Parts: sequence; structure tokens; C-alpha cells
Amino acid sequence: MRYLILSDLHGNWEALEAVTRETGGRWDQAICCGDLVGYGADPNLVVDWVRAHCAVVVRGNHDKACTGQDDLEWFNPVARAAALWTQRHLTPENAAYTTGLPKGPIPVGGFLVLHGSPFDEDEYVLAADEAAQAFGYMETQLAFFGHTHVQGGFIWNHSRVETIGRVSARPSGERMAIDPDCAYLINPGSVGQPRDGDPRAAYVLYDAEAHELSYERSAYDVETAQKKIREAGLPPILADRLALGR
Ligand code: ZN
Repeated sequence: MRYLILSDLHGNWEALEAVTRETGGRWDQAICCGDLVGYGADPNLVVDWVRAHCAVVVRGNHDKACTGQDDLEWFNPVARAAALWTQRHLTPENAAYTTGLPKGPIPVGGFLVLHGSPFDEDEYVLAADEAAQAFGYMETQLAFFGHTHVQGGFIWNHSRVETIGRVSARPSGERMAIDPDCAYLINPGSVGQPRDGDPRAAYVLYDAEAHELSYERSAYDVETAQKKIREAGLPPILADRLALGR
């Protein structure tokens, strides 16, 4: 099975559309690590696509916030404004679907799908010490997670945690072998709002039979996504940051 691993789509249709166009025919099943909505101007187009194409989807903190399941007190004013806007714009069908998304981790074909960390869906795994703690909760060799919007991840080689660094600087599509003696926490990065300094949409292609994965980036029509955010009356910083990948 070849998987397309997506996370943090955040209502950015232009980014998701570019990813699907560039990866056509290269995967059998799509998986989503959460945050379908929030920030972007096209929550319905994105949720429609996920409903039609993703075999497994876990909820993210924005999916909860944008469907009234989370206390918006924990959100900064920009994220809160975007969550309230999304609550007003999701169709009843897409709101019901997003509300019903399961909490991760969810096991799929020998790996885990989760949003934040294996022990807390809202926890950020950004540094090696946080990853070391997360590995302690994993019963599989491989897990895909999101939430930080930073493409990369961590490898546990049974003595220490290695950080998979400078992923964005590598050639897109470079294949990485999965060593059966190690454990992996892999972050595909964010499709809809990358924060690792590279504005291109981020994702991973994972070939389970070949035991290989590749970190991928796709350029997309950032200007149109920005224009839609501004015209929707969403906070303009949400448009500005897309051009920077921050
Ligand atoms: Zn997110």
C-alpha cells in the first residue's frame, strides 16, 4: 500500500488541490493527521475532499475549536477569530463530519495516525526530549503526527533520539528507508499553513511494502489563497504568513 500522508490542511484549498494534482497516481490511500479547518477561507472544499478521499482522519485542536468542542480561551485572538468564522461557514454536513472525527492515535496497517503526541492529542512534539517521551507511548514502529506545522520528525535507535533535520532543504521526493530496528515519529508538515520557512505545501508519501518514505513539497497558488482570506474578512495576518511559510 502506498499512502499519501497529510496534516494541517487548515481550509487552504489551493494548497490541497496542488498536492492532489502533483501526486495523482502515486498513492493508494490518503491519511490525515488533523486540522482540516481553521485559518483558511475554504473549509468546505477541504472537508469535502477529505470526506471523499481519506481512509483515516483524526481530529486536530482546530477541528474541535471550529465545531464548538473546545474552549476558545486557549486560542490566540487570530486563531479564535478564524475559528468563529469557520463555525459560521461550515455547512451542517461538514460541521457534523468534523465534529465526529475521532481522537488519535488511530492504528492503521502497522502504524499510528495522531495529531499532537501519542499521549495527548493537543501536545506539541517539537524537540528531541519531547519526542523521547512520545516514543515511550508508541506500540508501533512508525507514527505520523502533525500539529507543529514543521516537516520532519524523530528517529529512536534504542539508545537515543535523532532529529530528522533540514528536511525542506533536501530535494523533494528523496527517499528515506525505514530501518526495522528503529522507531519513527514522522511529521509530514502542513499542507495549508507551513511554518518551517518554506511556503510550499508539505506532505509525505509512504510506501509500506518498500519500507520507504519521502518528504515532499508542492508549490501552489499562494496569491489566490491570500486573496480569498482577505475577502472573507479573516485576519489579514493569516494571508500574509502564507507567503513566508511562517
Ligand atoms: Zn494545525
